[in-house]
Amino acid sequence: MPRDLVDSLRRVLGSEHVLVDTDLRAGYEMDWTGRWDATGFAAAVVRPASTAEVASVLAACDAAGAAVVTQGGNTGLVGGSVPRRGLTRPQVVLSTQRLRAIGAVDEASATLTCGAGTLLVDAQDAARDAGFELGIDLGARASATIGGMVATNAGGVHVLANGPMASQVVRAEAVLADGSVVGKATGPIKDNSGYRWGAILCGTEGTLAVVTAVQLRLLAPAPESSRRAAVYGVDDFASATDLCGRARKLASVRAVEAFDAAALALVCAHLALPAPLQRPCDVHVLVEGDEADLALLAAAPYVRDTAVGTDAEATARLWRYREAVPEAIAAHGTPHKLDVALPAAAVAEFAAAVAGVAPDVVLFGHLGDGNLHVNLLGLSPADDAVDSGVYELTARLGGSISAEHGIGVAKAAHLHLARGADDIAAMVRVKAALDPRATLNPGVILAGYAASA
Ligand SMILES: Cc1cc2nc3c(=O)[nH]c(=O)nc-3n(C[C@H](O)[C@H](O)[C@H](O)COP(=O)(O)OP(=O)(O)OC[C@H]3O[C@@H](n4cnc5c(N)ncnc54)[C@H](O)[C@@H]3O)c2cc1C
Repeated sequence: MPRDLVDSLRRVLGSEHVLVDTDLRAGYEMDWTGRWDATGFAAAVVRPASTAEVASVLAACDAAGAAVVTQGGNTGLVGGSVPRRGLTRPQVVLSTQRLRAIGAVDEASATLTCGAGTLLVDAQDAARDAGFELGIDLGARASATIGGMVATNAGGVHVLANGPMASQVVRAEAVLADGSVVGKATGPIKDNSGYRWGAILCGTEGTLAVVTAVQLRLLAPAPESSRRAAVYGVDDFASATDLCGRARKLASVRAVEAFDAAALALVCAHLALPAPLQRPCDVHVLVEGDEADLALLAAAPYVRDTAVGTDAEATARLWRYREAVPEAIAAHGTPHKLDVALPAAAVAEFAAAVAGVAPDVVLFGHLGDGNLHVNLLGLSPADDAVDSGVYELTARLGGSISAEHGIGVAKAAHLHLARGADDIAAMVRVKAALDPRATLNPGVILAGYAASA
């Protein structure tokens, strides 16, 4: 790390927010899964507290030829939030954890402005305290940040009702690699005065800009009666998909999730819980909606058993079986976490075929969006062969190799399965225009293509 760069970062942020000691950096160099271990690869971790400080950090790093890896809650599952192993340039991790200011809710326009490092749960609480609801929710709510969710265009459990993060963003403020500030995070909802940075930056995974603040759309809260959940046991993903089709016609339904028997076994062992259903079933579908709609679904001919959460507490107990799957898998070892989306008609074929591609598979996910999280156990972190087989199967069935987690470094070598040559070339041109020195998150999304080197 060039001494001059450390000195200039310290002048901007103060020494306590430029971490260079091995122990202090360590927590920022390992991802949530443990698969992407970049211990020792960050030259420094910086923690700016304002947009102006972010701009100064980026301008200094860009001029010095250092790469910048932006990190929010570090819950992304594709290796994009930690440094790259093997990159010869110095890498600076820019943590957004001090960009956590939450502004007042604007009731008349139903919006909330917050810093990019705001935790999802804090933004949800702020919305709720003002009588609104944030349209997005996911299991990592206590760690994931609003900026990280914009950068990954996060999905979660309410996409079928409210859309992904892109649907929640009114506008965003961000800093480009050279330190210039674009966009803003306040103002009226309607503003067609040029490029909408909030929309453009959704899903760019820290490769085009550092998001510093976001204006979020708020919703009227869903009625309490539609917050119940039921778990249905079925024999296979064909029945689960059919049940999903029935659920999607019911007005109160807000979420349709699924987990297989392997996922349930891991959760029950991890949390020492009994199974939610009396009868063992191969696939469990969790639906959130009102009791009348949940009862209609229980009557589907292939549903073998049902557990209904008739109050908030019982509903939370049922959700725990689904939400604890990632932590139960993590407790079991270091998984390969693949996140794919299939056309509904191909979900059952995929679920049957994937067992032939990988030896030890756990399936769960947001079935209502055709989104399955394929967790592969017992593989070494660097072994990409089985991942490739799963991605090729996904592409053959007309699916997407990334439903909601992004491409990161994990899937960069497989980008051609999702995007055509012209498409990738255009992304490279956009990257080169906004970040000509490839300062921001090199190796993410466009690894191997010129502008990302
Ligand atoms: C238990 C668990 C459950 C999860 N459930 C879901 C789910 O249901 N749906 C879903 O979509 N994801 C889910 N995830 C994945 C993860 O929570 C999301 O991808 C989330 O959006 C990441 O936010 P983060 O703040 O942790 O970002 P990080 O992990 O820190 O970063 C993710 C990417 O965004 C970039 N980035 C971060 N902040 C910024 C910023 N301010 N500006 C520019 N780039 C930035 C990083 O460089 C990196 O490329 C889950 C993860 C876990 C561990």
